[in-house]
Amino acid sequence: MSVVLLSPEKGLAVAGQDVVRLFYPDDKIVFQPAVDYKVGLTVSGFRKGNTLTATAMLQARDASLTEKASADIVPETGDEHNQLKRLVRLALFRVLCRYTGVSPGPWGILTGIRPTKIVHRLLDISWERPAIIDYLVKNYDMAVDKAGLLTEIAGRQRPFLLTEEQAAKLVSIYVGIPFCPTRCAYCSFPAYSVERAGKLVEPFLAALRREIAAIGAVLGELGKKVQTIYIGGGTPTVLDSSRLSSLLKCVDSSLVSAETVEITLEAGRPDTLSEDKLGTALDYGVTRLSINPQTMKPHTLDLIGRRHKPEETVRAVELARRMGYGNINMDIIIGLPGEGLEDVDHTFREISKIRPENLTVHTLAVKRASLLRESRENFHLPPRQEVEKMLEFTAETARDMGMQPYYLYRQKRMVGPLENIGYAREGFECIYNIQIIEERQTVIGLGGSAGSKFIEPGTWFLTSLYNPKDPETYIRRIDELIERKIKALEKLN
Ligand code: SF4
Repeated sequence: MSVVLLSPEKGLAVAGQDVVRLFYPDDKIVFQPAVDYKVGLTVSGFRKGNTLTATAMLQARDASLTEKASADIVPETGDEHNQLKRLVRLALFRVLCRYTGVSPGPWGILTGIRPTKIVHRLLDISWERPAIIDYLVKNYDMAVDKAGLLTEIAGRQRPFLLTEEQAAKLVSIYVGIPFCPTRCAYCSFPAYSVERAGKLVEPFLAALRREIAAIGAVLGELGKKVQTIYIGGGTPTVLDSSRLSSLLKCVDSSLVSAETVEITLEAGRPDTLSEDKLGTALDYGVTRLSINPQTMKPHTLDLIGRRHKPEETVRAVELARRMGYGNINMDIIIGLPGEGLEDVDHTFREISKIRPENLTVHTLAVKRASLLRESRENFHLPPRQEVEKMLEFTAETARDMGMQPYYLYRQKRMVGPLENIGYAREGFECIYNIQIIEERQTVIGLGGSAGSKFIEPGTWFLTSLYNPKDPETYIRRIDELIERKIKALEKLN
């Protein structure tokens, strides 16, 4: 049965749909009256003097409830209609908490992927940290500790955000290699197994090199420089040594300059690394390596379709260290099937022996395109309360390891309404990660499924473009894809 969400003004009902999904993730939401429905919600709003008020009325077989949310207009926090939409979400949130008895978690009505952006907007107009925390708690029903975490992270990011003048000159680049050794059960990325898609690798790389060279040339003509490069995917290190070398050579000659301060290479699967590949990456200036164990429990690795063993992660990091890599990130996932707090404790004890400079803790998200979602009944996912404890544990342990949180984002369909957090030792923060989440710099995506964000300096207005997911389409359309990006870049100038 569906959930009916109505309002005299359609925009108000649509603004509330994400909040309704917090309570009814698997039900259809309809925006017109229906005869048969699970819950009916009607929202409305009005202004009296300087005060906005929103009302949410709930109608179900067993209840009829109303909640209101009011606030004075604060012009610097957005236009009036957006403030009213926020109050509608708040009133809906409150009435649904009361009716269902469910508390959807510490983020309140903040359902967006990049919550730190709100904090940056307030810091831009010189709000102090205590005032921002108070605003988030009162206006978004957020828990104080999460509001504190957001302001802490935003404060740490400020030195890395570009001024309007810098943003007019500096861009970042993402290079997407959509191939992996095998497909992980939780993966929703367009990752094609090299075993099956092997014949596409070479033509894909040829198209990618063309795209890199063309964009590098246009950036030069427009007087723009590349600040950071992130080579991800997929698993770029699944490429054999000579292909990886020719890709990095092309990146180096087309994009790198004295202004390029960071090049990350994702070596997600430790079993794809070799001394040869690591040496090549160092020769071409890679400054940061991401080796991702996800868990140090061998049984879980088998279950989620990763072929490597925990010992291979340790060996890969040791080899990278011996060869001179001084900035290593490790990705961990909490909430993996069959794992409890003691498994996460084990993983962190093993990782603390390796002492990475960066640690990225993801909360498992059960994405639509993943095997995990298709056959969810075959995987035993830990309950939300346990995942919350895991997240608290990882936050404390990362700080004990000498790292601080420096970027945060949220995803839909997480196991619990939680977050992904990147931690780093001071001076090892990944600048690319900050730019891509905070959206204050143009990031050009090249390669498979890569997204580009063209950002207008100062207004931070954003236009997105996406490359096709499947390599065959990417290869076929490469000229048109290059052309579209060139036009978007020229428009920015
Ligand atoms: S390594 Fe990453 S991109 Fe590749 S299949 Fe696993 S989750 Fe997907």
